[in-house]
Amino acid sequence: MRPVCDWPATDLRGGPDGRVGRRAVLLGAAAASVTVASAAAVATRRAATARADAPPPAPVPVAAGLEILPRDAWGADLPPGPLRPETPRFLLVHHTASPNDYRDAREVLRGGFRFQTGPAKGWPDVCYQFFIGRDGDVWEGRAGSLAGPVMADATGGSQGWAQLVCLIGDFTTAAPTPAAIDSLVLLLEWIARRDGIDVSEGATATFVSRGSQRWSIGTTVTTPTIAAHRDMSYTVCPGAPVVAMLPEIRQRVAEVHRRYTTPAALPPHPDGLSPARRLGTTRAV
Ligand SMILES: [Zn+2]
Repeated sequence: MRPVCDWPATDLRGGPDGRVGRRAVLLGAAAASVTVASAAAVATRRAATARADAPPPAPVPVAAGLEILPRDAWGADLPPGPLRPETPRFLLVHHTASPNDYRDAREVLRGGFRFQTGPAKGWPDVCYQFFIGRDGDVWEGRAGSLAGPVMADATGGSQGWAQLVCLIGDFTTAAPTPAAIDSLVLLLEWIARRDGIDVSEGATATFVSRGSQRWSIGTTVTTPTIAAHRDMSYTVCPGAPVVAMLPEIRQRVAEVHRRYTTPAALPPHPDGLSPARRLGTTRAV
């Protein structure tokens, strides 16, 4: 089975010098479009240039210790195609299976967009609702996911009913960083609370599959409400180390969820963590 989870097989470490700035990326894209002699291309170029002159969008605080960088932080000039809303019943954990020594998460996400919206997949946008970088940085993936649940895509068809959280990196053998797992716990809990998914310990969801390579269309599936991609498709994603951590992750999510759903006030996060501000560029592994 491929360790890759719907990600390009090419090396994605963040460009030649690994420090490709947002402005440079956008202006580069604008320059490339000069040869396209159409009014639409000119309008697109002007819009991209205007966005390049704008400050990067601020991370959006959604929960104690959790901020999410909106999609425009990495893909303002990469408009999605038509997307549909979802009625999520559970949450699904993935990894990109791309190199762990990337230097700029934004370039990894842009490479994923090009691959997944290109001829190989033909999807309207990256298929994951959210990404998490090794510094604990959290990114909106598929457009609109910060505002509410949107429908995902997956290779071989999607069983549906899930919101997808994808760890940036290859965790076939390596384990994610503690910072990434901390953010994963907070992100899963926030999505569950927003979308009304039961993440108490032992919680399961039952749904009728829309058709994946593992669960053919019409199959009734029961799953823990926090599941691994390999539970839904024949893949090693999100990697054995992450799968081994899922029981503890579910326990931690349930614990945080209890703090939000009981009358006691939620204590402030111990170190005022703002992972999103790190932009995934602070450290090479
Ligand atoms: Zn996956």
